[in-house]
Amino acid sequence: MRTPWPDNRPFALALSHDVDRASKGWAQFLYYISGSVSHLDHRGFRKHLHSLAAQMAGNNPYWNFERLMEFEDDIGVRSTFFFMDERGKFNPLRPRTFTLYRGRYTLDDPKIQHVIRHLEAGGWEIGLHGSYRSFNDESLLGTEKGRLETILGHPVLGVRQHYLRLRVPQTWQIHARLGFAYDSSLGYTRRIGYRAGTSRPFYPVDPTTRKPIMVLEVPLTVMDRPLMEMARPQEQVWRCIEKARGEGGVLTLNWHQCLFNPWEPEDYPAMYAQIIRECQRLGAWIASIGEICARWRTARQMR
Ligand SMILES: [Zn+2]
Repeated sequence: MRTPWPDNRPFALALSHDVDRASKGWAQFLYYISGSVSHLDHRGFRKHLHSLAAQMAGNNPYWNFERLMEFEDDIGVRSTFFFMDERGKFNPLRPRTFTLYRGRYTLDDPKIQHVIRHLEAGGWEIGLHGSYRSFNDESLLGTEKGRLETILGHPVLGVRQHYLRLRVPQTWQIHARLGFAYDSSLGYTRRIGYRAGTSRPFYPVDPTTRKPIMVLEVPLTVMDRPLMEMARPQEQVWRCIEKARGEGGVLTLNWHQCLFNPWEPEDYPAMYAQIIRECQRLGAWIASIGEICARWRTARQMR
């Protein structure tokens, strides 16, 4: 079978990190520790105490950019970091807003701007993580895109909506009008797998005009938390790898930046490494989503 990947590699592995949070505040420690006490969750309690000890020692558990860069640099791969510009506010009368907005960051933060430039200078791709309400708000998403582009000094090609909030086909139409080259929001939030039934990137079709919407969808396959909460996670992910191999498609990973720490939960970084090693062993082409998108488009033109 002829595949679109360099040297006719059997499939591709796309690496990505949603940056939902960049640092953990005291209110979050308090919230999670008291939550684990009230639910008699001993494992969670130990995990959060462990993480608190790290914080006291000067290691914010949610700031893992250098750790990820070092890890990926060591194995010679690059990924996509999706940054968010979340301006929603915590409202004590609406408890849900705590998990949505507490500990959020914006692109005005100089520390965030610095790490974005630092990542890009090192060869990592920067994409936009559309804020919670942006999936059906073109003006909001456009403003967020513009802020990120001001930091980068060039257009942003990729987007993934926070919580994978995708209204089909409206969100894709917004993406296309705003000039995104690809989206990677089509995936499951509570399980893993290929939500569109295929591992191959595709242009969505507008059901009214029956014409393609010009934003390439690179489906998201495996997200850290849903995978790790499943029984026998290795077996589940190996099945996804088999499908990507069989179709010459892509396995896309999303490992949240804030969870790539050795404290909470400590086995997430190891699973990320294990999946990459297995795909390397099987000859996958490993790249950022932007590179996957560019390669896919070039291969299509050559056919
Ligand atoms: Zn998110």
